[in-house]
Amino acid sequence: MVRETEYYDLLGVKPSAGDDEIKKAYRKSALKHHPDKGGDPELFKDLTHAYEVLSDSQKRAIYDQAGKEGLEGGGGMGGMGGMDPQDLFSQLFGGGGGGFFGGGGGRPSGPRRGKDLVHRIGVSLQDLYKGKVQKLALSKSVICKGCDGIGGKKGSVKQCASCRGQGVKVMFRQLGPMMQQVQQPCNECEGTGEIMDPKDRCKICHGKKVNSERKVLEVHIDKGMKSGQQIKFAGESDQAPGIVPGDVIIVVEEKPHDRFQRKGDDLFTDVDIDLLTALAGGEFVIPHLDDHALHVTVVPGEIIKPGALKCITGQGMPSYRHHELGDLFVRLNVKFPEHLDAASFPLLEKALPKRPALPKLDAKVHLDEVTLEEPNDRQRRTAASNGDDMDEDDDDRPGVQCAQQ
Ligand SMILES: [Zn+2]
Ligand SMILES: [Zn+2]
Repeated sequence: MVRETEYYDLLGVKPSAGDDEIKKAYRKSALKHHPDKGGDPELFKDLTHAYEVLSDSQKRAIYDQAGKEGLEGGGGMGGMGGMDPQDLFSQLFGGGGGGFFGGGGGRPSGPRRGKDLVHRIGVSLQDLYKGKVQKLALSKSVICKGCDGIGGKKGSVKQCASCRGQGVKVMFRQLGPMMQQVQQPCNECEGTGEIMDPKDRCKICHGKKVNSERKVLEVHIDKGMKSGQQIKFAGESDQAPGIVPGDVIIVVEEKPHDRFQRKGDDLFTDVDIDLLTALAGGEFVIPHLDDHALHVTVVPGEIIKPGALKCITGQGMPSYRHHELGDLFVRLNVKFPEHLDAASFPLLEKALPKRPALPKLDAKVHLDEVTLEEPNDRQRRTAASNGDDMDEDDDDRPGVQCAQQ
């Protein structure tokens, strides 16, 4: 039982009226009493206020249980916020100013839009280099074809009278002098806002209105795409009755590669070369990201120092869209031999610059005879914790030189 019926009476509806009925009643009387048509502005204002309350499930629940008094800030609830009746009217029936008497009155802001589905896919550097079409299967909700999204036989679905189709009920709890407002799902319709005879329920979706379907999307990974780039499939997200489905957004995420690192359109790679090649020239091969490889000649006489950074123009990544090629930077790690035959020492002494002489020391300096040992595990750990990675090459890199291949 409602506590007072003033707002219902104003609109000329019963307290049991559903949302649609209230909206229709308001539209009819608001058009009749609109000040632009010579109606009484006060009455128009009252009508609009009544509608503002009855069209809002929370406010209506408060009004039904506690009357106008309940709405006026008592019981710990916010005030009414005094909306301009003109605003509400045009918001509801479309068109501002004088335009709303003509035409059929469009929807205020178009249908609700569903959520976008964001999906990240890991893409290998090879695929970003070559481009690829990747198939992606996802399961999504689609409107049930058995019932066209109604959930049962046409006409069998009724608005839940208990919650007036809102799916929620507002309850009150007395807490000392305060009234506390609690919103909970409607128990009669299990929060759906609808009531249906179970025998009319759609056999395919069991009343859920949607079914889960497997959908395969063809994701075009274009050459040169970068991490974070998005590929959009408009309207491919979950369907639901009364909403425009959102988009499926694929976000490209570059997977790390074991030999190449990418910076923009440039590539970086590390290549081990032997000491002889580094000192006396030779050749090596860098397999690339597709089925081609680079044959590199080290010219005799060009000495490669450990960690030298060289550049091969036009062997980097293709740029996105224009496919202009970046550069490939090659860091050369010179591998020293583990063992050398003593017989070769005189040849080395002949070939290499002379050993530097010892510095001249003051006669007072006492010289200790020592040997270099391999650090033991404890010593290694100590060295590592001092920030000296003992197994890494010297980080003193020479500047970048770029050579045309
Ligand atoms: Zn209900
Ligand atoms: Zn169905």
